[in-house]
Amino acid sequence: MIRVRFAPSPTGFLHVGGARTALFNWLFVQHARRRGEEAALILRVEDTDKERSTDAFTQVILDGMTWLGLSWDEGPFFQGEGLARHQADAERLVADGKAYADEGAIRFRVTHEEVAWDDAVHARIAFHGKDLEDFVILRADRTPVYNFAVVSDDVHMRVTHVFRGDDHISNTPKQILLYRAFGREPPVFGHVPMILGMDGKKLSKRHGATAVADYQHEGILPQAMVNFLALLGWSPGGDRELFFAIGELIEAFTFDGVQRKAAVFDPKKLEWMNAEHMRALGPARLLGLLGDGLGALPPARAVELIAAVLPRSRTTLDIVRQARQRAGLDPVAQDEKAAAFIAKDPDAYRNGLRLSANGLQDVTDWSAATLEAKLRRIAEASGMKAGAVMQPVRIALTGSTVSEPVNELLVVVGREAALARLRAAASSS
Ligand code: GLU
Repeated sequence: MIRVRFAPSPTGFLHVGGARTALFNWLFVQHARRRGEEAALILRVEDTDKERSTDAFTQVILDGMTWLGLSWDEGPFFQGEGLARHQADAERLVADGKAYADEGAIRFRVTHEEVAWDDAVHARIAFHGKDLEDFVILRADRTPVYNFAVVSDDVHMRVTHVFRGDDHISNTPKQILLYRAFGREPPVFGHVPMILGMDGKKLSKRHGATAVADYQHEGILPQAMVNFLALLGWSPGGDRELFFAIGELIEAFTFDGVQRKAAVFDPKKLEWMNAEHMRALGPARLLGLLGDGLGALPPARAVELIAAVLPRSRTTLDIVRQARQRAGLDPVAQDEKAAAFIAKDPDAYRNGLRLSANGLQDVTDWSAATLEAKLRRIAEASGMKAGAVMQPVRIALTGSTVSEPVNELLVVVGREAALARLRAAASSS
């Protein structure tokens, strides 16, 4: 049976790298199951650093996994609860002559001159000589070092595959030696590549949000985040497009596709992917995922508004903000470009608004086709370009220089509300 584990340290938020490691483990399990194999994902919270570990971080990590849909089959287990076993395992190695007491601590005796393994990502990796010296496994205060606790736990939990970040490669030879000392076959190791920011430096807070929860609060959908994380260091090969529904990821994911070179975290790509997933869901299903931002509206009206703004939204926050403005739930706030447009020629702006408010007043068939024709006639009648009428309308109704076509915008805002807002904007600005 395949048994993998995700082993986060609760010393910080669930960040992008940790979530990606969790996802690869999860995908490996789901893919194996789809092929009819028995497989389990164990969640082990490595809380042995008592000073930096907190229950709050543990909770944030579990919440992040739950949000992403990464369910685990066993656990959460807490490494700290294995202390008695860690100590007993160390004593066993002493009794077998494989470790020895040294100034109160217990030190492992290294007799091998080379340790090598076939990494699931990097192929053969070998360490020799000076990298392999006797090392402490139990400190003088009887607490285990990281490498020892991990092997004791992985043996105890019958872990068959260890997938974790590249930064652990240098730990692996020690861990393999410990497996051998316990008389166990080491698991398959696979070290997934680091994640870099756009500047090629290791991803950190300087690059913006790195905690998964930040993206949740910025209006990224979990399925988009999962799709994006999967492609951080994994590639399906060929010219397969990048949009993956979760079932497609499970089907396609294998460690053959995991890259050796570092992955680059591109926030723009995440937004693009989020937009793709929002469009794939469509307005009606999105409504249920927007929280209560549009809760004040009848559902059919909310869906109509979502449909109007979806093509120009990258996050669910974009949708809510634009839909609320069109519905009149929030006042229109001008963005920089809109403010600059007005400032360039305030009279022309007001004039455009006045002409359109007056001209549209007698339109009773408030449809996109009628409004389009009418707006053009209004402009022509004053010897102006269509844009000189339409752009002020767009800005007055959305606060932005880009939106859906103005005739559609007028329809979605609605006749009375649109006319009232155009008149108000014409006289106030
Ligand atoms: N607790 C370790 C970490 O968060 C993971 C150890 C492992 O996967 O072996 O980096």
